[in-house]
Amino acid sequence: MKDFFKNFKYIWKYTKGNRSKLTIYVILDALLVLIGLIVPYLSAKRLVELTNSNFEKMLYFTIIIYVFEASYDILTAIAGIVYKKIQLSINKTMQYNLGKEILKLNAKTFEEKGTGVFTQRLLVDTEKLSTVFTDINDYLGDVIANIGIFGAFFVLSKTVFLVLLLAFLVRTILDTYRVNTINKQKKIFREHNDKLTSFSTELIRGQQDIKILNGEDSFIKEFDKRIIEINNESYKIDRKNQLLILLRRMWTDFSDLLLIVTILILVMKGELALATGLVLFNFRWRYEQLSFGINRLHQTIKDFNLSAGRIFDIYESKSYQKETFGKKHLDKVNGNFEFKNVTFGYTDINVLNKISFKVKANETVAFVGKSGAGKSTIFKLLTKMYDNYTGTILIDGVSIQELDKESIRGNISIVSQNPYIFNMSIKDNLRLIKEDLTDEEMINACKMACLHEYIESLQDKYDTIIGEGGINLSGGQKQRLAIARAFIKKTEIILFDEATSALDNETQNEIQNAINNLQKEHTILIIAHRLSTIKNADRILFIEEGKILAEGNHETLFKKCKEYKHLYESELSKENN
Ligand code: ADP
Repeated sequence: MKDFFKNFKYIWKYTKGNRSKLTIYVILDALLVLIGLIVPYLSAKRLVELTNSNFEKMLYFTIIIYVFEASYDILTAIAGIVYKKIQLSINKTMQYNLGKEILKLNAKTFEEKGTGVFTQRLLVDTEKLSTVFTDINDYLGDVIANIGIFGAFFVLSKTVFLVLLLAFLVRTILDTYRVNTINKQKKIFREHNDKLTSFSTELIRGQQDIKILNGEDSFIKEFDKRIIEINNESYKIDRKNQLLILLRRMWTDFSDLLLIVTILILVMKGELALATGLVLFNFRWRYEQLSFGINRLHQTIKDFNLSAGRIFDIYESKSYQKETFGKKHLDKVNGNFEFKNVTFGYTDINVLNKISFKVKANETVAFVGKSGAGKSTIFKLLTKMYDNYTGTILIDGVSIQELDKESIRGNISIVSQNPYIFNMSIKDNLRLIKEDLTDEEMINACKMACLHEYIESLQDKYDTIIGEGGINLSGGQKQRLAIARAFIKKTEIILFDEATSALDNETQNEIQNAINNLQKEHTILIIAHRLSTIKNADRILFIEEGKILAEGNHETLFKKCKEYKHLYESELSKENN
C-alpha cells in the first residue's frame, strides 16, 4: 500500500490542468454510487409490495426505479466521456516525459536492454497507469454500493448475516491469494513480453537483410521459439488463474446453497417472515459483488504498482544509466579538438589504445585503416556517446567532460554510412533539425548537398514521403540528405563516415562535391574508403588497433608507411575492378 501511495502521488502530478474535470468526474461517480445504493432498496420495497399483492405501489416503485436506472445510464456515459479526456491528457504527458527520459539514457543502456523494454513501457505501461482513476472509482464504487448489504442482513437476521460473513471472508481470502500469486507470474510474463517485442521490431526492421541472407526460416524458427516461451508463461498464469477461480466459484456455489438452506430453515421455523426471506434471498449476490469489488481493487493496485515500477525503473534504477554532461558552455566553437592518451573499450578489450592526435579548426582530416581498427569509435567518443574512457578529449581546449550537451552535440554533425532517415516528408526530415526552417534555407542546404535537382524531379518535391508508404532513397541520396542536415545545423565540426559500398561514379562525384562545399569553413573528419577523399584531405591519420600508426599527406604516407601503401593498393585494385 505504501508503494501505491508513492506511485499515486506520481500520477497525481499529471492531473494538473485537469483537476476541475477530475472533480466533475468524482461527483458524477459519487452520484452513480448513490443511485447504486437506492435502486436495490427500492427493488426490495417493490418485492415486499409483490408479496402483499399491492400492485399499484409496485407500479409506482417500478417507474421510480426506471427513472433512476435511466439516470444511471446517462451519468455513466457522461462520466466516461469526461474521464476519457482526463485519461488521454495524463497519458500524453506521461508518454512525453518518459520519451524525453528515454532519450537521456546512454548508448550502453540501449545496447543492454533492447528496444522492447522501452516500447512496452512507453506505450503499454503508461496506458495502464492512466486508467487508474476510473478503475479505482469503479471498484471503490462497487465496494461502497454493496457494503451496506451487511448492515441490512444484520438487522433482518443475525443467523443469515453470520453465514453471509463466512461466505464473504472465505471468498475474499481465496481471491487475495489468487491476485498475489498471479501478480508474481505477471511480472515474469512482462519481461518475456519485452523480449518478444524487441525481437518483433528487429524482424520487421531487418526484413530486407533477413530476406537477402535467405534467413527467413531460421529467423521465423527463433521467433516461434520466443512465442512458445511467452505462450507457456501465459498458459501457466491462465491455468493457475482458472484453477483458483474454479475454487472460488465452487465455494460461492456452496455458500449460496448454505445461505438458501439457512433462509428456508428459518422461514419454516417461523423465525423469519416469508417476505424478508425473499428479500434476503434476492440480495444474496450482493456480497459477491462486494467481494468482487474488493478483489478488483486489489488487482488494480497490484497492476498499477507493477506498471509504475517498470516506469520508475527508467527514471530511478541504476541499471538505466543517463548520459551526463558538464556545465561549461561555449558560445562559439571554432572546431579545434584533440584526443590525449585516450583508451577505451566497449567491453574489457580495449578498442582505442592511448591514442593522441590534434585537429585544427577548418582542417579536413581523413582516417584510414582496416575495418575494426577503431575509426568510428573515435567519432562516438567525440560526440560523447560513451563516457568510460581514460585520457582527455578536448574541444577548443576544453575537456568534453566539462562541456554542456549543447556545446558538444550542437556543434557536431555526423553523416553516417547509412543515416537514419525518418518515415516522413523530406521537408519534415529537415525541419527536425530546425523548427523554424525557411524554404529558402532548406533549398540552399539541399543545393549545397547536391540533392536539390533530384528532389525537384520528384512528383511531390520536398513534400515527398520517404520510407514506408513513400519513396526509398539510395545510400548516396541518404548521405546527401544527412549532409543537408549538417548544412542546416551549421555545425563547426562534421564527421563523415564514407559509404564503403561501391557507389556509381556520378553519386560519388556528387557526394565529393557536397563535401567540397563544406571544406575550409568546417572541421571535417572523414572515415575514408575512397581514394578521391583521401587525396582531398589536408591530412591522413592511419589507424591500426586503436593507435595512430602514421600520419601525413598521401605522398608521405605512401612512402613511409607500408601498411598504408598496402591498403591503398588494395583499394585501388578494388576500384579498378
Ligand atoms: P572501424 O570504424 O575502424 O571499422 P569501429 O570503431 O567501428 O571500427 O570498431 C572497433 C572495434 O570495436 C571492433 O572490434 C568492433 O567490433 C567493436 N565495437 C564497435 N561497436 C561496439 C559496440 N557497440 N559494442 C561492442 N563492441 C563494439
